[in-house]
Amino acid sequence: MANVRLENIKRRFNNVTAIEDITFEIPDGEFWVLVGPSGCGKSTILRTIAGLENATSGNLYIGETLVNNVPARQRDVAMVFQNYALYPHMSVGENIAFGMKMRKMEPRVIQQRVAEVAASLSLEHLLDRKPKQLSGGQQQRVALGRAIARQAQVFLLDEPLSNLDAQLRDDTRAELKQLHQNLRNTTVYVTHDQVEAMTLADKIVVLSQGNIQQIGDPQTIYNHPANRMVATFIGNPPMNILPAKFTGGAFDISGQTLPLPASMKKFNFSTAQQLDLGIRPEHINISPEPSALTVDVKVVEPLGRETLIRATIPGSLQTLSIQAPGNIRPHPGDKLNLNLDLDYLFVFDATTGKKLY
Ligand code: ATP
Repeated sequence: MANVRLENIKRRFNNVTAIEDITFEIPDGEFWVLVGPSGCGKSTILRTIAGLENATSGNLYIGETLVNNVPARQRDVAMVFQNYALYPHMSVGENIAFGMKMRKMEPRVIQQRVAEVAASLSLEHLLDRKPKQLSGGQQQRVALGRAIARQAQVFLLDEPLSNLDAQLRDDTRAELKQLHQNLRNTTVYVTHDQVEAMTLADKIVVLSQGNIQQIGDPQTIYNHPANRMVATFIGNPPMNILPAKFTGGAFDISGQTLPLPASMKKFNFSTAQQLDLGIRPEHINISPEPSALTVDVKVVEPLGRETLIRATIPGSLQTLSIQAPGNIRPHPGDKLNLNLDLDYLFVFDATTGKKLY
């Protein structure tokens, strides 16, 4: 069993706190994705699990073993970095075989394993080449191959696709998903890419400033974000945030009045409180009738299946994005009446970002 358990892990670098206090447990065989803004501690968590970094305090378990003092090479983890870190003087085959040679496995077994791994990643025809004779995508597959060949219990991947161009990135992402379906290694994956996080993860961990904001499966993170940070970080284009005041029976959004949805009637928002209303671009509908919210169209981006409209609330600098069906093509300067799908309206405390509804 290779569940990975972090218990109150903290990491400081002099006066910088990279990880504040992280506790989570990844069950054996699951694929977890760490996301968050730059500098939030994603790589430090990964490097701590790998044993390349020591936690300042806390306990780390792989399986049932406390590994705080176990050196990286004895942890039975394989790590793939963004920059591949292949051995330049070795061929593809030698790179894939390296970990197994170090473990003094039988040459015959190594040869067979290299062939299997190369076949699973379509690298058979490249086994004799040196890394510099490969494209970025091929190098990345070799780096993955080297990790797979080691048959480590835990895979750690730090933005492994970020150097690939868009098409290759999509293909390799699908390959990775398939590989995990076959191998079922416990995997921890760091990425900036929303699509990778949403499509690959069993669970997404959203981090900010060294703290966990939310852990959940992709649909939960998207549909039920725990706070404003998660709500605005996950989703592209991001959720609209509209500063508002509660006036009694309604919200005032930059001088326009949105009646309080029936579902929120029992909630007692304070009229003194600064609120942020959150609504995703796909939950705003354009209405032919006069409606609660009127906006001025600024930019129209036709994307084929859909049209992305950027608009402002008249008399304010407040902007919002609207995702409309592809056949809807307003022009900059048009006025649009909007209906918000109130089932998907969030209310956050503007000061703390805490979700109020
Ligand atoms: P990115 O998405 O930009 O790669 P990240 O979320 O992976 O960022 P980390 O690399 O884990 O973030 O860094 C977390 C914090 O710790 C940052 O403030 C970083 O500057 C700091 N940090 C990381 N490594 C060191 C180090 N060796 N010495 C000092 N500070 C460090």
